[in-house]
Amino acid sequence: MLIDGHGRKVSYLRISVTERCNFRCQYCMPDKPFSWVPKENLLSFEDLFLFIKAGIDEGINKIRITGGEPLLRADLDKFIKMISDYRADLDLALTTNAYLLKPIAKKLKDAGLKRLNVSLDTLKPAIAQKIAQKDILKKVLEGIEEALRVGLKVKLNSVPLKGINDSEIIDLLEFAKSKNMNIRYIEYMENKFAKDKLQGLSAQEVQDIIATKYSFKSVGRVESSPAHLFELEDGYRFGIIDPHKHDFCEDCNRIRLTAEGMLIPCLYFDEALSIKESIQKGDVQGAVKVLKEVLANKPEKNKWSSDDENETSQRAFYETGG
Ligand code: SAM
Ligand code: SF4
Repeated sequence: MLIDGHGRKVSYLRISVTERCNFRCQYCMPDKPFSWVPKENLLSFEDLFLFIKAGIDEGINKIRITGGEPLLRADLDKFIKMISDYRADLDLALTTNAYLLKPIAKKLKDAGLKRLNVSLDTLKPAIAQKIAQKDILKKVLEGIEEALRVGLKVKLNSVPLKGINDSEIIDLLEFAKSKNMNIRYIEYMENKFAKDKLQGLSAQEVQDIIATKYSFKSVGRVESSPAHLFELEDGYRFGIIDPHKHDFCEDCNRIRLTAEGMLIPCLYFDEALSIKESIQKGDVQGAVKVLKEVLANKPEKNKWSSDDENETSQRAFYETGG
């Protein structure tokens, strides 16, 4: 069992398989072109798998593959199959922007993927183009349809932004509900790569908007999940993730690994240690030692704050995978 320096059990590994992305979401990517990490600097799927096996043996029981855009990495289905063949009962999930999903959804399902989170901030093509800085919506919606068709469980992630998509909170809820998908609104987390002047809606503002049309009650958080759940009168549940209040840090069970082999203990902070050298030498125990060191120093909570002077993280979401 993996326990961090604050006594929290860590059982959830999030792996960013690439920091590259085919979108330039305003809240995530820098404006200016920048150079990607050269492909040869990334850990191979074989190396990542070595670490994953050790992690599972130490008590990891949930893995999420993320990015950047994970579907940009070739042979992702084969990687998923490697993991699911090792431990079929693992909670194995993927977070994607769904732009490339349609042709690969069935392969991912057949490889052993259980669940998908898809980022969907709007149902309007022009707004989608504004947020992602590319004409994306048609392909994203087709990807979602196909994932549902092949039997993947799909959850939507949506980041409400003032003056951009805040008029669509209810439309997105109704879209998700009509397709039997859950939706989670994620408060915008301030970070130095995001476009200046972006302003997110608070969890309370999202609730206030939904309350203009629906009655709902709070049903709290499921342990270790960051989302606070709410239930409409007909039983449909939606979630809101509120990183500016730190209640979910109390039972945070996560550790993040980047494509370059950096282990990151908290999404907010810059601290990280590398497992690359150990794992590339085949020294799995060395990598596990690094993992335990990172966990021993995992911060107690993030620093996004709920007052007006929001703290800004120096970490890139496209690198850590959110
Ligand atoms: N490219 C994939 C996608 O967009 O789903 C996976 C990586 S993305 C970094 C993972 C999640 O982080 C997405 O749901 C995205 O909306 C969220 N995200 C990125 N930047 C964010 C920010 N500044 N605040 C809140 N959520 C953010
Ligand atoms: Fe790419 Fe996802 Fe970041 Fe958007 S949120 S730029 S899709 S990594």
